[in-house]
Amino acid sequence: MFGVESRDDRQRVGIGMFVASLAVVGCVLFADAVRHLDVDAIHERWLALALFTVLVIATEVRPITIVRAGGVDQIVASTTFSFAVFLAFGPAMAMLAQVLASLVGDLAERKPFTRTVFNISQYLVGWGSAGIVYHLVLGSTATASADTVLTVRWTAATVVAALTYFVVNKSLVGAVVALSTSSRVRAGIRETVLSEAGSDLLLLALAPAVLVVADRSLLILPLLLLPVFAVYRSAAISAEKEHQALYDSLTDLPNRLSFMSMLEARIARRDAASSPAAVLLIDLDRFKEVNDTLGHLAGDELLRHIGPRLAAALPASASIARIGGDEFAVLLPDAAGDLEAIAAAVAIGDSLVEPFRIGDFNLEVDASVGIAMFPSHGTTSEVLLKHADVAMYVAKGCNGRVELYDPEQDRHSTRRLGLLSELRTALGDGQVVLYYQPKLDLRTGVVHEVEALVRWIHPEHGLIPPSEFVPMAEHTGLIRPLTSHVLRLAVAQARLWRDNGFDLAVSVNLSARSLHDSSIAEEVQKCLTQAGLPSTALHLEITESSIMADPARAKRVLEELHRAGLHMSIDDFGTGYSSLAYLQDLPVGEIKIDRSFVMNLLDNDADQVIVRSTIELARNLGLTSTAEGVESQDVLDWLIDARCDHAQGYHIARPMASDAVAPWMAARHALGVRHVAQRYETSSGLEAGNDSREHVEVLARVVQLFPPAHTRRRVQ
Ligand code: C2E
Ligand code: CA
Ligand code: CA
Repeated sequence: MFGVESRDDRQRVGIGMFVASLAVVGCVLFADAVRHLDVDAIHERWLALALFTVLVIATEVRPITIVRAGGVDQIVASTTFSFAVFLAFGPAMAMLAQVLASLVGDLAERKPFTRTVFNISQYLVGWGSAGIVYHLVLGSTATASADTVLTVRWTAATVVAALTYFVVNKSLVGAVVALSTSSRVRAGIRETVLSEAGSDLLLLALAPAVLVVADRSLLILPLLLLPVFAVYRSAAISAEKEHQALYDSLTDLPNRLSFMSMLEARIARRDAASSPAAVLLIDLDRFKEVNDTLGHLAGDELLRHIGPRLAAALPASASIARIGGDEFAVLLPDAAGDLEAIAAAVAIGDSLVEPFRIGDFNLEVDASVGIAMFPSHGTTSEVLLKHADVAMYVAKGCNGRVELYDPEQDRHSTRRLGLLSELRTALGDGQVVLYYQPKLDLRTGVVHEVEALVRWIHPEHGLIPPSEFVPMAEHTGLIRPLTSHVLRLAVAQARLWRDNGFDLAVSVNLSARSLHDSSIAEEVQKCLTQAGLPSTALHLEITESSIMADPARAKRVLEELHRAGLHMSIDDFGTGYSSLAYLQDLPVGEIKIDRSFVMNLLDNDADQVIVRSTIELARNLGLTSTAEGVESQDVLDWLIDARCDHAQGYHIARPMASDAVAPWMAARHALGVRHVAQRYETSSGLEAGNDSREHVEVLARVVQLFPPAHTRRRVQ
């Protein structure tokens, strides 16, 4: 499905050939070394040899693993003792001791065959080439003893041999890592050589000391394990530090820094220009709510579950990183094209559908995924990530799950991001104002209330509707100052009308985020007190979906507002899948039927059933009903006949600037009151016969939308 098999196969063959040739070279070098075997030295000091070999094996089996972007490398403390064998008994014996140790270690860890062969060959080639150089510098094939290692010539040969072993060994590791990640070999070698120079060279430098000590007494030789252990420890600590710098401690996934370097390595790949790759940015949609309601521990637990889910949904070659609070990034190094990247993004979405079991809860998580393709959408890591971010924002805004970067959208998003950065100053500059839409009481034909709808009068872009900046403000910290601004304006306006003899209540829309703000009730009360208004002067609208996003918390906040004496409505009713049982429990006074059911009501039987039943439902729960989006007289009449309590819509009045409200009220009063009031009085209300059946249908619909598990989880 992801088209990586052929590349994987090619890679496997490449590595196989590399390891096989290495093995051949290793054997040749070994055969050569055996020719110079110093049998006398072995005879004389066989006990030392045995002890060294034991120490090589003992220190080989606990390697320090260094995980790098793209590969794994290991530091082993055995180097000290194998180099001591090398000096005292010649390269052939060092090779033998090290091969033995390596075999023991690899078999114990059940490492794959190629890996085991590579490790052995790498030692053979490393000590083999060190041997050649050593003997060249020395001018003979003699082995060293405590006396000889201290001469200038031996010292020079020793240093050169150690350096040769180190460079050859690390180059081979760097090369094989580069081969297996398709990155540039030279860069791979440089990285390994540089990062391990410190500890490896120290371990090699201890070898002559081992020889000198061994010459004095084999008994104190094990004491040398202490400095060896110290070097090993410090290498382990620095490997740990390196790990911490590159990995997220919570999820143990690579962090932003290492994601960027993986991405850069991919961009720098030999075949980069000809093969596309994809960067996917994933943002969890309801993570903040989980954190806020269930606490950080639950949030952390959830985050830990994400990586394995993603890994299971993606090809093995994908790299997954956590690059921010609830943001994850994926690199598909070999995505064949847009479609493959989109398929992977959809697979990610699907993998999160199954609820997460956290403690006693089953949590549902949604994600928005933005995709940017290399090289078509960018050729640097920064640009790719930024474009994936733009696409992710678009996905979020459209309530879609997956979005491929599109430069056209970027222009919009850039405008939106630009707007967002201007919003804070706009609030202070008086560019953000309220329009008001009257709400008609169908029982009396009178307007007692207006709904405040926010508008941004931008000096360049003109009037910007809330849909363009409220959701963006919700995703940032700006929703709070925006809500405060709106509350202040609305209350001030209500005060002004009151002072001029209009007893109009103002209804303000609260964002879902306000329900997470424990200080909202206090803020609302403060506003009212400052303006010297009773709590009945302000109404609040909360959408059904924002209540259902976190019913328990919504209930708490609503109750607090209720205690403060505020009248509250459920906005956009019918779109949020609430449960009846739950609604009954909320201290709200009104249901506002979403305009999508009302606008074309006369052409749509289903809408009629829904609206009629909702009116009835509201009445049964002791609530009033408001129909939004009334665009014609016919719909208005239908609503009056259905005994709806209030109506709002373009047919009655469009949202208008504050100074247009009073004149509109005066004109309206002269015209329409009588018609509405009379019709309401003569209408028979709900037609008998059908309504109970229809009501049952609506109940069925609501219950169907709320499988019991979902309701239980939400309502606890
Ligand atoms: P809403 O609360 O459902 O507001 C009603 C929306 O329907 C308004 O759009 C209004 O202009 C529009 N509308 C009214 N009558 C009709 C009609 O007959 N037909 C049609 N097609 N539309 C009609 P607007 O002003 O663009 O506001 C959109 C949404 O933005 C609001 O939906 C509300 O959810 C949100 N919003 C507005 N002001 C604020 C605010 O101050 N704070 C927050 N958090 N959200 C706000
Ligand atoms: Ca509203
Ligand atoms: Ca609404």
